[in-house]
This record gives sequence, structure tokens and C-alpha cells, in this order.
Amino acid sequence: MCAQLGGQPIFIMKEGTERTRGKDAMQNNIAAAKVIAEAVRTSLGPRGMDKMLVDQFGDVVITNDGATILKEIDVQHPAAKMMVEVAKTQDSEVGDGTTTSVILAGEFLKRAEKLLEQKIHPTVIVEGFRKASEKAIEILESISVQSGIDDHKGLKNAAMTCMSSKIVSESKEMLAELCIDAITAVAEQNENGEWVADIDKIQIQKKQGEMIDDTKLIKGIILDKEVVSPGMPKTIKDAKVLLLQSALEIEKTEFDSKLQITSPDQIQAFLDEEEKMLKTMADKIEAVGANVVICQKGIDDMVQHFLTKAGIMAVRRVKKSDLEKLAQATGGKLLNGLDDITPESLGNAGLVEERKIMGDSWLFIEECTNPKSVVILIRGGTELVIDEVERAIHDALCVVRDVVEDQKLVGGGGAPELETAVQLRKYASTLGGREQLAVEVFADSLDIIPKTLAENAGLDQIDILMKLRAAHQKGNVFAGFNLENGEIQNNMTDVNVAEPTVVKIQAIKSATEACSMILRIDDVIAGVKSSSADMPPGGMPPGMGGMGGMGGMPGMGGYPGMM
Ligand code: ADP
Ligand code: MG
Repeated sequence: MCAQLGGQPIFIMKEGTERTRGKDAMQNNIAAAKVIAEAVRTSLGPRGMDKMLVDQFGDVVITNDGATILKEIDVQHPAAKMMVEVAKTQDSEVGDGTTTSVILAGEFLKRAEKLLEQKIHPTVIVEGFRKASEKAIEILESISVQSGIDDHKGLKNAAMTCMSSKIVSESKEMLAELCIDAITAVAEQNENGEWVADIDKIQIQKKQGEMIDDTKLIKGIILDKEVVSPGMPKTIKDAKVLLLQSALEIEKTEFDSKLQITSPDQIQAFLDEEEKMLKTMADKIEAVGANVVICQKGIDDMVQHFLTKAGIMAVRRVKKSDLEKLAQATGGKLLNGLDDITPESLGNAGLVEERKIMGDSWLFIEECTNPKSVVILIRGGTELVIDEVERAIHDALCVVRDVVEDQKLVGGGGAPELETAVQLRKYASTLGGREQLAVEVFADSLDIIPKTLAENAGLDQIDILMKLRAAHQKGNVFAGFNLENGEIQNNMTDVNVAEPTVVKIQAIKSATEACSMILRIDDVIAGVKSSSADMPPGGMPPGMGGMGGMGGMPGMGGYPGMM
């Protein structure tokens, strides 16, 4: 890539740099984004299809979760990558509506392309879309119904709607209840009286076997560990739990040391001394009244022996993060040695028990002092099923949290998109000019959601869209299409199909953002992928750039004299 200066080419960019500009760049980007949207389109809604993804190692994932699909496919094109980001943002902000957001972004771009062909400048489109998206958010807020932590029916509808498009749809009612229980257990009101629910407080454990319906909520914590010694008790009621970060062993010295032993007595004395030290450890634990020891490091056989004799249960090599969760749940302190052990430093749990699940021993710590930590133990026939159940539960937990925190719901089944479109068209007529055109195009793009839902159910899109629009014109803001029975419904919440308002708002926000960003690009400059043969940074003296054809000399960076 070079410019001309008095006949002399000046090299500005590295040889091999690719550049596309203007219309070509725009068209390329839009085409790539559309491909991504097209790829997830068939998976939208309860009648959507699943995708089977196989990675380079042959691992298989079966899912219809937009974010997961895009995470698994290795996208190269920069504009396509931006679409993947849309799904990721949607997932991290609200946890559901990933497919919707990507389909929307694709449709915005597809229709924006038509405006570009009519010679409307990208910045005019971007500005129109921004106005439309702000208005759309306003509309969505205004049509929402009030909900929240006390609205059990609303929470359940939202959770069930979110799971109806997943493999788990058969068990969605039971899983919805489970997710609501989990969120209500961890939800708290902050100093401003607002509800917050931190999903990180909900631990997810998976274990193959039994059926999805055997998935359970456990108020407490599960450790994938067994009691260290068979002689120890397997069940302890009213547990006093010692949480230890250091080892119950005699520390080895960092350097080699030699011990001069001259008689057999000395060996015995040495061993006795060691045993005494290990016994002291067990004694200290017993004296303070602990009956369960949870240790992050190892536990010496001798200590195990003394603990067993004292009837104390112990597990070792527990993850630090689990230990921290236990400290939260049981109210115990994390200790770094036995020196500051006191009865107050111990945690409390009503029941600590080792249970066998499918041949593996797990430790259940239940009835903790602070019940704000719960575990969902997922069961299912195969690993593929369990993984998809986990994703469904994640989405449902997010959705329930969204409603608990934001306290707003809208009907589902394409109703909010349709209503927003209808109201946006009215708003557009107040604008006039090219902006009006952009807002109208934005409104038309929203129809892609009900259209796709109908299409995926194998139905006539146009026919359904017309009927639905008519219902909305009559003032039925939640008129939608019930995919359970194939009927048009004047109020989707009557048939228990509802979604959190924030999910719909976020989808519009992130789709508009990505679309605007792509529309603003008119120059794509792609550098050469660096490899070991490349020029080291600063390897070429500044003057060299002017030396005509030299810039193109391959392998120069490898020349030893220049390194
Ligand atoms: P996303 O990744 O965008 O959440 P989904 O595959 O989960 O995509 O589909 C969500 C869409 O399916 C929403 O628009 C929701 O309203 C719709 N939906 C869910 N259940 C029903 C139903 N019973 N009838 C009609 N639409 C439904
Ligand atoms: Mg969903």
C-alpha cells in the first residue's frame, strides 16, 4: 500500500495489508453480518430447531441457544465478530434473548442496505435508528405490566416462556419453580429498598444419571469430595465446621537437612516427636468442639487416624472458592493454621452428610446458618442433555432475576415487537424527511421476530402478520401468536407467555448499537497476520520506507544482522 510523491512510491503500510473501502467495505460487512443472523434464525422460539456443533477435537454440543451457537462457531470476519459480540452482551446483561438480538441486528442491516441503495447517507440512517431505538425503549416501558418478587405467577410465566424453546420444555414447570425458589433464596433488598439477586450465589452441580425431573434444589453447598477416612462418621447433625486453608501435615523444610542418628533410640524419639505434633493438631480441633474439618490442603494419615478416633469427619483438597462459599454459608472463618482456632471461628450447619450419587461420593452441607447460598443439582440421561439443561437453567435464572430486579413484564410471542412497530410508525409520521424513512425501516425490521416465530412453526408469515397487526390496531398491546396451540391470542399473558421487559429493551439496544457501528465503517484495513518470519517491531529503519521496491523484500526481518 503506497502513495505517490513526485513519482516515488511511499510505503505507508506493511506489504500484504488488505484494504477495502467505501461501498465495497460496507457491502462486505453487511453481508457477513447477515450470514450470522441467518445462521441462528431457524432456532428462534419454541418451534425452533437445534444445532449440532462439532469442534476441532470432535466434541459435540447440541443447543438452540443463540449465544452458545455463536460462541462455538469460530467466526473470522470482523463484522461477523461484532454480531457475535451482540449475543455475548445480551447474554451477560440479561441472560436471554440472544437469538432475538442477533436476528434484529441482521434485519436492521439488511433494510439499511436498501436505504443506502436509495442514496441515503449512513449517518442519516444511524441517527434515525438511534431516535427509533430510544422511542422503542419508551414504548416498551409504557406497555409493561408490573411484576416482582411477590408476583409468583409472573415470575413463573417468564421462566416457563424462556424454557419453552429448549430441550427441557417438558419439565419446564418444575424447573421454573426450582429457579424461582433459588432466586428468592438469594435475593436481598439493598439500602435503597431495591431487590438484587446475585446468580453467582447459586452453585450449579451436574451429575449424569436419572432424569431431568430429578434435578433438585439444595439449600446449602455440595462438595465433589468424599470423607477422607472410611472410619469417620458419614453423617453429622448440628455440625461445627472448621474451615482450614493450611495443611494438617508436618511441613517439609525448603532445603535438604541431614539428621545424624547414632542409635535406634533416637529414631524412635524422632518418630514419637512427629506423632506428638500430629496428635496435637487433632487434639486442638477436638478441644475447640469442631466435628467437621474442611481442609484446602492435605491431611496426614496420622491426623486422619486421631480425628477418626475422636469421631470427627474430615475432607481434604477442597477448592478455595468452595471454602469461601462455605465461610459465607456457615458463618465460619477461614483459618490459616490452628493457632487462632476458637469456638467462634467455627461455622454452623444443621446437617453434613456424605451421599453416593451414581457411584461417586459427594458431601452435602445443608441447613446452614445463612441460607443465602443454594445449589442446583442437575440430573439427566446424557452429558449432552445435562449441558443443555444447564444452559436452560442459566437462562431461566437470569430471566427470574431480571423480573425480580426490574419488576416489569411484557407479553411474549412477538407481541412487544409488533406493538413497538405499530407505535413507531405513528411516531415516524411526526418526523418527516429522510429520518422518517429510517424510523419506518426500523419499525418494519421489528416485524422479523413474529415473522420468524411463525416461519419456524411452518406457518404463513404474511397471513399471521396481517391478523396480528389488526389486533394491535384495535389496542391489544400483547396480541401475539401462541405457538403451543397455533392460535392468535389477544393477550399473550393470558396463555402464560411473558418475558422480562429488560430482555426486549436490551435486544433492541445491542442490535441498534452493532448495526450503527457497522454502518459507520467505510474502510477496512486488515494487517498481515504476524508470523515468526515477520519483521520485528521497529526492525526497519525509518529511511528504508522510501527505498522504492525494498519494502517488498520478503524475509528481510529474518536477516540476522538486523535483529
Ligand atoms: P432467544 O435466544 O432470543 O431468547 P428463543 O429461542 O428463546 O430465543 O425464543 C424466544 C422467543 O420465543 C420469544 O420471542 C418468546 O416470546 C417466544 N415464545 C416462547 N414461548 C412461546 C409461545 N408459547 N408462543 C409464542 N412464542 C413464544
Ligand atoms: Mg430464550
